[in-house]
Amino acid sequence: MYIQQNISLKPYNTFGIDVPAEYFLELNEIEAIAEITDMPQAKHVLGGGSNILLMRPVNGLVIHNKLKGIAVEKEDKEHVWLRVQAGEIWHDLVLYAINKGWGGIENLALIPGTVGASPMQNIGAYGVEARETIDAVTFWYWKEKSLLTYNNRECHFGYRDSIFKHQLKDRAFITSVVYKLKKKPEYNISYGAVEQELQQMGVTELSVKAIAYAVINIRTGKLPDPKVIGNAGSFFKNPTISKTQFEQLHAKCPAIPSYKVSDTLVKIPAGWLIEQCGWRGYRTGDTGVHIKQALVLVNYGNASGGEIWKLSGEIVSSVKERFGIELEREVQVWTPTP
Ligand code: FAD
Ligand code: NAP
Repeated sequence: MYIQQNISLKPYNTFGIDVPAEYFLELNEIEAIAEITDMPQAKHVLGGGSNILLMRPVNGLVIHNKLKGIAVEKEDKEHVWLRVQAGEIWHDLVLYAINKGWGGIENLALIPGTVGASPMQNIGAYGVEARETIDAVTFWYWKEKSLLTYNNRECHFGYRDSIFKHQLKDRAFITSVVYKLKKKPEYNISYGAVEQELQQMGVTELSVKAIAYAVINIRTGKLPDPKVIGNAGSFFKNPTISKTQFEQLHAKCPAIPSYKVSDTLVKIPAGWLIEQCGWRGYRTGDTGVHIKQALVLVNYGNASGGEIWKLSGEIVSSVKERFGIELEREVQVWTPTP
């Protein structure tokens, strides 16, 4: 086991924030976890670093998850169960599935990060969420020094949410995930942008591959590439409000976009709220709000986590003041004890 000391985390987070980790190791084999558990340092699991905001130097041990492997666990006529090790790159898994023609995760193409983080916030895009295919999650429970497996129901999945963000926060190291994919896929093109892109691509017969490439095309045209400009995707969740609150807002602001969640709940695109408050394209120092997508906060070079946090707070206050809606941050803020 090779443990490095005082390593800059800049290359390991897509915001490109430059703070050091006291200790850092790459975990390539699951057998090493037991040994790590006995180390006295606080432990922080890191995947692709595409959903974290680093606020200060990280004390303790950062474990860079590199556990690899994809294996068919079982299959029947209609489904295949894939056990995927947590350090696999999520998009590589999507490519693997679409090449086999297996359906369920094609709408989630090009989401950055690792497989192990997919249950964390129940990643989602274009009308599909990871929870629809996650059959089981296996994790190392630090406290009991053992591997546990939760089925889908036990993961308490919600909108960009799961038990791993709450009761099991910092207590579980997800080591592998089982996805149940469909051999005869059912396609979801409910998001208008996907349907339009498929038309532009000239697709006449739907396939998981065609949908994945439609999503890839949309995403590459719309989202800032973290290799070019630091960001962690959507900084905030899209808020869900009551139908009554929505009707009051709509009366004052008829242009407000909305999506029905249930008979009593309505989802509002957070990007629109932020844009209405005048933040789109805003920049202060090296911190800003992306010009094409107001939901994405960016680091133009040397922004600190604190500066990005401060800007996010100003955005939350202005949206609250104008619309009475409290935005919730989606990005995981790392504030390990100093
Ligand atoms: P990290 O950022 O490394 O970690 C995130 C959190 O999960 C941390 O708290 C970390 O400790 C914890 N964690 C990571 N791995 C494990 C593990 N194995 N066990 C326990 N805890 C772990 N998200 C979406 O849902 N939909 C999108 O469409 C989407 N688009 C994005 C687009 C861009 C350009 C970017 C930069 C981000 C986007 N995201 C999106 C957010 C991000 O890609 C996902 O949340 C992704 O799952 C994070 O994976 P990661 O490996 O980078 O996690
Ligand atoms: P968009 O298509 O401009 O839509 C804005 C928001 O409205 C979306 O966030 C989406 O909510 C909602 N929406 C749009 N069409 C909908 C429909 N037919 N039914 C229900 N809700 C609908 O969004 P975008 O920013 O370009 O992102 C496209 C997709 O990729 C979204 O699903 C988004 O969540 C995902 N994405 C996520 C991140 C991240 O970091 N989390 C980053 C980039 C993109 P939902 O978010 O609930 O889908």
